[in-house]
This record gives sequence, C-alpha cells and structure tokens, in this order.
Amino acid sequence: MPVAGGHYPRSTGEFQAWFGTDEDCLDYLAWLRWPAGFTCPGCGHAGGWALGDGRFKCAGCGGRTSVTAGTIFDRTRTPLTVWFASCWLFAAQKDGIPALSLQRTMDIGSYQTAWAMLGRLRSVLVRPGRELLSGTVEVDETFIGGEEPGLAGGRARGKKVLTGIAVEVREPKGIGRCRMTVLADASAGSLHPFVTGAVAPGARVITDGWQGYAGLGKLGYVHERRSQRAARARGEDPGKLLPAVHRVASLARRWLPGTHQGPADDAHLPGYLNEFVFRFSRRRSRSRGLVFFRVLELAVGHEPVRYRELIRNPGSRSRSHQPPQQRGHPPSLDRPQAQRPWRNAPPIQSG
Ligand SMILES: [Zn+2]
Repeated sequence: MPVAGGHYPRSTGEFQAWFGTDEDCLDYLAWLRWPAGFTCPGCGHAGGWALGDGRFKCAGCGGRTSVTAGTIFDRTRTPLTVWFASCWLFAAQKDGIPALSLQRTMDIGSYQTAWAMLGRLRSVLVRPGRELLSGTVEVDETFIGGEEPGLAGGRARGKKVLTGIAVEVREPKGIGRCRMTVLADASAGSLHPFVTGAVAPGARVITDGWQGYAGLGKLGYVHERRSQRAARARGEDPGKLLPAVHRVASLARRWLPGTHQGPADDAHLPGYLNEFVFRFSRRRSRSRGLVFFRVLELAVGHEPVRYRELIRNPGSRSRSHQPPQQRGHPPSLDRPQAQRPWRNAPPIQSG
C-alpha cells in the first residue's frame, strides 16, 4: 500500500509544497511510471539516464523517451502543474469538478480544453480486468441522462440512455460496490453480457421478473426473481423491489447534472458513469491524496486518449464540444522559491 506523506500528499498544503514546479510534477510521473527506475518502452532494457530536457536515454538501444510519451499526458500543451492541480481538484472533491469551474480556476483558455482534460482523467478510471462483484448482487436496467441544465442557463436536450446497474448488497444492510454500463436494449442479448461482465459466477443475482433476465441460472448464478406483479398484489411498491439499485440510480441521477453541465446523452454518458462508479467505490475513503495517487497512477499506465475518442459519436452533439483551438493552453502554475521578494524590492514611491 502506498504511504501518506511519502508516496502521496496528505493534504492540500503538502500537495502545494511537493508540486511547486513543472519539473517536480514530471519527476513524480517518472517515479510513478518507473518505480524501480527507467525501463525502455522501445527495447525493454532496464537502465538509462535522465537527459536535461526531461527525457530518458536508454542504456541499451540509446533511444530517447519522454516521461509523458505513451500516457494520457502525451504531447499535452497544458503545463504539468496545471494538470496536477486539476487532478488534485478532481480527486479531492468528493463529487468531482465541473469543466466550467476548472476552466475558470486554472485560467484555461477554452471550455473545451478543460472539458477534454477532465474527459482524459475520466477515461483512465476503469481498470482493465478489475474485480467482478460477488455475494448478493441486485441487477436492473433503467433510463439515465436526458434533459440537463445547459451551460447558458437554458436546457440542453439530451437523450435518456438505457443503463444496466449492478449493486452488491451487504448483509445485514448496506451497499457495496457497483457497476454501470450503457445498454443497447433490454433484451437477453444485452443483459446477459452485462451481468457476466460485472458479476462473478456463483453470486446470488436478484432481478425483477423481466424476461431478459431469464436464463441467468444457466450462466452459473443463483438467480432470484422478484415479480413486480406479485409485489403489487401484496400492496407493496414495485419500485422498491430492488432497493440498492434504486438508491444507486437516484444518486447517479442527482450527481450527473450537479457535476456535468453538458447533456449526458449516449455520447457522454459512458464516461460519466465510469466516473460515478469510481467515486462511488471510494465514497468512504478518508484519504483524498490516495485517490489523487490512484488517478495519476492509472493516467501514466493508460495509452494516450485523442480528443475524438472522448466522444463516442463525434459530430452528434456539435456546439458545446468542438475540439479545442490552439489558444487553449493555460499559464503554468510553476512556483519557484521566491525568497520574500518584497524585502528586497525598492521602497514604494509615494505620489
Ligand atoms: Zn531501449
């Protein structure tokens, strides 16, 4: 386990003390990427030396590698101090940060640049091969997204998107981890792969009586169906058959327009759902510094994400998400030691 105060900052004060310059940030990324020392991505040779320009030279093949090449920071024009401060806000705020706030806080030239930075951070959050849910798991499908408050104060119209939700139920009460995925439809052909991709075999899977879930028993699950009709007949609220899924869905519905002002339609929703699931799993983590560490660790291990990959259907939603223009890069937040310059400055002239 990484250690607070050694591997990641314990507080905002420590964050600011550690990452005062772009050089410090680059060194942290190099350490995260090669904790045991530089390893050449070209030939696999372990060992090399740092060049003055922030790159490494391989002792085997002589190839030069920049620390950020092949990561989500590949060829970024945004200074690393700005990336780090953004990442700190992204991690330290429990609900994340809206792109508009980030743009204003960091002096980022365009909304699109700020939005794309957050999109890149968001896209690293799903670890490939992460653990499947286990124990008792409620599974349901529901519509999420749709009309959200727009940037200009109006309503940007998005489309509601069918979303699969799987939530671990803890005994005697409580909610564990969750998974959410955009679904093409509510057929068995869509629901079965969602369940097998999210839930470990052998788990007890609770669904409603929908026919799309029929056959889960044959896929290795202990399938428990709760009939809505039977609930109604008993005088119970059929919407409360799956209370854990119901709770997670309503949290996600409340979080979406609060953090993401743009329309959460099928182009943007997958990324937002990943962010929600990541935050939900860490909702009880008291160390925001550790969340910051995890995000950066994933970011240096993730291949570059191009702007058009941030949007599933580029062009489908045009105006608010044009690719950023050249003028988008913010000033560095580099803070070299200043040695109390006011003491050495000439006296202020009066008049
Ligand atoms: Zn090499």
